[in-house]
Amino acid sequence: MNQIIELLSRLVACPSINPKNLAPTGLLYGEAGMVELLANLLRDWGGQIQINEIAPGRPNLLACFPGKNPNRSLLLDAHTDVVAVEGMIIPPFTPMIRDGKLYGRGACDTKGPMVAILLGLRRVLDEQGQPPVTIWFAGTCNEELGATGAAALMASGFRADMAIIAEPTELKIIHAHKGALRAILETTGIAAHSSTPQLGVNAIYKMLPVITRLEKMIFPATHPKLGAPTLSVGTIAGGSQVNIVPASCRIDVDRRLLPGETREEIVHQLTGNEDVMCTVTEFYPPLEESLDSPVAGLVAAACRRVLGRAEFSAAPYATNAGAYKAAGIPAVVFGPGSIAQAHTKDEFIELSAVAQAVNLFAEIIQNAT
Ligand SMILES: [Zn+2]
Repeated sequence: MNQIIELLSRLVACPSINPKNLAPTGLLYGEAGMVELLANLLRDWGGQIQINEIAPGRPNLLACFPGKNPNRSLLLDAHTDVVAVEGMIIPPFTPMIRDGKLYGRGACDTKGPMVAILLGLRRVLDEQGQPPVTIWFAGTCNEELGATGAAALMASGFRADMAIIAEPTELKIIHAHKGALRAILETTGIAAHSSTPQLGVNAIYKMLPVITRLEKMIFPATHPKLGAPTLSVGTIAGGSQVNIVPASCRIDVDRRLLPGETREEIVHQLTGNEDVMCTVTEFYPPLEESLDSPVAGLVAAACRRVLGRAEFSAAPYATNAGAYKAAGIPAVVFGPGSIAQAHTKDEFIELSAVAQAVNLFAEIIQNAT
């Protein structure tokens, strides 16, 4: 337990707030500090380290631990970014332990689950010297706002035979989740003096039928575990002042998609027949992994041995797993802690759950083939 508290405290105390696609400034923002900490730790453990900046100040970390069988590989992913800290009622980066829980931003999402991977791996290295198959640990950046770290890793051509993505799933095996597409829709008009609106084209009026159509949109497809797709208009902005006919109007749209739906299809749906421009800002592919796949079986067998039971589940939220699955790597999502505590004003994780997850990841790595 001391090892868990020590490492998790170090990770939480290393701020890595997602800078929202701006260049990171100051010590609180960006993943570079976390990547440096992890790179030093894993180099000490014998890992071969690669660091790739995918945007200024936004690095991915990849650490390789060659296996006894070097021809098989397991990718263990945990994102290094955390969400903003505004409104938190605890010190975000001064880890605090109370009643068996460790408090701090990222404790649950996803530094606690990351610790479970790392100390599970540490145990296998201590006991066996080498994992049975090659283990890749990926500390991916920018998961919270687009999963572009995982997408860049796949675009680099990197592949593994299977992947487990660490997130707070309450030790349930998430084998299916929705994807997410976020887009800006924009209408363009012609500015004019508001006393002669007939000389202009009102971009806000042009947006109205778009919004009405989106509000009433019906999705025929449903999924047995994930239900129907969803759509939400999150922001609207248009015009500059009351006496000018507005020349532009934009809305931000969040569309949750099911396995089988494609990015192109959805852009087409959002645009409809209206004169509106659609720009995709974030895209998380959905996940659907067969319960019979080797990766699902590997995690389930570990759960049965350590917990006495294995529970499969589906989630409405998106993760890095979608990007890996879309690139052909079988993947599931798994880790300690609950999504109910992620992104909250007093984020925490139960240390006993992390300890269980260390046992589970050790078991998973030991039995990987
Ligand atoms: Zn997360």
